[in-house]
Amino acid sequence: TDAHLGAIEAARVLNAYVVETPDEARKMAQAADAQIAKGEGGPLAGIPLGIKDLFATKGTRTTACSKILGDFTPTYESTVTTQLWRDGAVLLGKLNNDEFAMGSSNETSCFGPVVNPWRRAGSDAKLVPGGSSGGSAAAVAAGLCLGATATDTGGSIRQPAAFTGTVGIKPTYGRCSRWGIVAFASSLDQAGPIARTVRDSAILLGSMAGYDPKDTTSVDRPVPNYEAAVGGSVKGMKIGIPKEYRIDGMPAEIEKLWSQGAEWLKAAGAELVEVSLPHTKYALPAYYIVAPAEASSNLARYDGVRYGARVNGRNIVEMYEATRAAGFGAEVKRRIMIGTYVLSAGYYDAYYLRAQKVRTLIKRDFEQCFEQGVSAILTPATPSAAFGIGEKGGADPVEMYLNDIFTVTVNMAGLPGIAVPAGSDSQGLPLGLQLIGRPFDEETLFSLGEVIE
Ligand code: GLN
Repeated sequence: TDAHLGAIEAARVLNAYVVETPDEARKMAQAADAQIAKGEGGPLAGIPLGIKDLFATKGTRTTACSKILGDFTPTYESTVTTQLWRDGAVLLGKLNNDEFAMGSSNETSCFGPVVNPWRRAGSDAKLVPGGSSGGSAAAVAAGLCLGATATDTGGSIRQPAAFTGTVGIKPTYGRCSRWGIVAFASSLDQAGPIARTVRDSAILLGSMAGYDPKDTTSVDRPVPNYEAAVGGSVKGMKIGIPKEYRIDGMPAEIEKLWSQGAEWLKAAGAELVEVSLPHTKYALPAYYIVAPAEASSNLARYDGVRYGARVNGRNIVEMYEATRAAGFGAEVKRRIMIGTYVLSAGYYDAYYLRAQKVRTLIKRDFEQCFEQGVSAILTPATPSAAFGIGEKGGADPVEMYLNDIFTVTVNMAGLPGIAVPAGSDSQGLPLGLQLIGRPFDEETLFSLGEVIE
């Protein structure tokens, strides 16, 4: 814990942490030491972690990196973090993210962008760590924690993991409780870990997962021993390569990485088969209807009364307007406007209902694939390596949305997906591959992920 607190201080230029909790960390570490001495240490005893600022932490400021939450300090603890502390983990602080987890570069945070610890060969240009869990990914990659919590609505665990050479798993929808996590799009949001290795991510997920009666969408199924799946045989497993993921203009480096990953799995005894997921091309547009729709509804609660910041007006309506105008950033406002539009009477059927139907078709594509005996699907994690801060999404938000092309389908179908570092581009930047699994079969992803890692 001391070593990590020192590393955090020395690496503040990365802007990975938005709150540091050194006193709390030392106390928790001492308590873990005492437990270990008694032979009662939990599976994470003394392991220092960073927590994405979307998770409510009792007594520690939690703002989802939005001005509208002001200095909101919860009086309660999220279920996922409660389970981590139960198992002995130590809180180092809260990690930066895109405002309300909306973004793919960690540039929409009210605390400013996170800097990726990686650089292109021979260049000093600062790169994004991906998003929205950019602080989590950068902190793990730079050794500012041993692991971190993250959340993934359309790729926010897997894309930053790929951009920083770390491992990120988004488990099956319902595997981790969403209670006490700031909601973005409730039918898509899932928590998961970002860690240095597949094994670390398996251990962390084991603590984070589990049924919680406080989240009606969490699923009452026992949590398997994920760590035992690491190193498990993949002999005879059928791995699907979806032809629709061979998108136009895919960089040769990504193509090569993908074939290389397939070769590695084949060498380990898996069988590679081409599969078809015909509705893939509709996933991104449908996601950018469903996610903003749910966001506009979830974000209605930030009214200047219940949480954080308030800007006064002459009457209550003016107060609402002034608070929301000052409190939300540009990307969040864009999502609220899109969301209220697609949900409004007259447009609901044409947009929201249609997007939900597309969602069902996407889910069926995967089901058909798994019915043919496919154990998992291999794809690239991202269409490129990390890009420069300020390089994308300025005048054209869609340019930024295209980053999610390989990841959003997984959230739309509620499936588990893992991003594993698999190589680097010509500039030496890390690149990742994604494995998509059957519902509640995270174990297969850990076995396959370890082959690629
Ligand atoms: N980049 C996607 C978005 O902006 C996904 C974000 C996420 O997974 N939280 O909506």
